[in-house]
Amino acid sequence: KLYNMVQDLKGSIRVYCRIRPSFSAESKNVIDFVGEDGSLVILDPFKTQKDGRKVFQFNRVFGSTASQDEIYKDTQPLIRSVIDGYNVCIFAYGQTGSGKTYTMSGPSGGSSKDMGINYLALNDLFRMSSQRKDIITYDIYVQMVEIYNEQVRDLLAEERTDNRLEIRSCNENGLSLPDATLRSVKSTHDVLSLMKLGEVNRAVSSTAINNRSSRSHSVLTVHVHGKDISGNTIRGCLHLIDLAGSERVEKSEVTGERLKEAQFINKSLSCLGDVITALAQKNSHIPYRNSKLTLLLQDSLGGHAKTLMFAHVSPEDDSFGETVSTLKFAQRVS
Ligand code: ADP
Ligand code: MG
Repeated sequence: KLYNMVQDLKGSIRVYCRIRPSFSAESKNVIDFVGEDGSLVILDPFKTQKDGRKVFQFNRVFGSTASQDEIYKDTQPLIRSVIDGYNVCIFAYGQTGSGKTYTMSGPSGGSSKDMGINYLALNDLFRMSSQRKDIITYDIYVQMVEIYNEQVRDLLAEERTDNRLEIRSCNENGLSLPDATLRSVKSTHDVLSLMKLGEVNRAVSSTAINNRSSRSHSVLTVHVHGKDISGNTIRGCLHLIDLAGSERVEKSEVTGERLKEAQFINKSLSCLGDVITALAQKNSHIPYRNSKLTLLLQDSLGGHAKTLMFAHVSPEDDSFGETVSTLKFAQRVS
């Protein structure tokens, strides 16, 4: 019975909402109320205070003044569980410009101030594993891929000519992408340079299409292997996922490549929503196979794995429609 209770907790999905600071002095702020208890009230800019209120409930809501450290403080227990052998997924969801990359990587330009979850998590993994070094020796490996138009690509491959990857059913190493470049990392410095390489490779492949980074999912995976003195091993992995922008594109506006991109993104984000909802409802069938993203993460979604999703919203009134659909998506999976 106790075991079942623990199982339930493990399978649980946490959803946090983060509101980006407003960039426009002219625009009306649609955020009406941010509660300590995870409630959020937004206001339709075209309606009255009385008619236009929409109420949402999450595990937590971070207002626009929340710092990177505050965000990380709530994430840290999940990171700790990775060195104890759990699989963890952390997603950044939201429309383009809502702050996904800021939460995961930090401010654009890569300044060392206000680093995001990716950096803080790895830093912590190194620190926590060294604290245990007398009992367990840990090796930490990093892998970085993107999914663009349902095609997985290796962002750490030396050879850029063909960096496409096939997803295989997980082998005993827990690797669903056995051909992806796996780099051993010993320090946050190593990680930072790999993250830079990944970003460069991502930019290189975006020749024809502008702003590829918002049209693809990026998945940074950290594999943690521990071994104790008697030879017992422990494995955990952490997936840090900066999702493609969730905005709906006007059908009349897009043609050709852009339409194809938009359809792939819509499909994979709705598959992700379906999988998380099916897990939350404890359905017997979980539709992992409906998208590359969920197939890739199959071992780290559900079962013993832990999931955290950050739903990002922009506070400006012209984003109201997208803000509502982001919050609805997030509420559906929580
Ligand atoms: P996305 O990845 O969702 O498209 P970004 O993370 O690139 O959005 O954020 C858009 C812009 O807003 C960037 O210039 C980013 O640095 C800035 N920004 C986002 N969130 C915050 C925040 N919480 N505090 C300060 N600046 C932010
Ligand atoms: Mg981004």
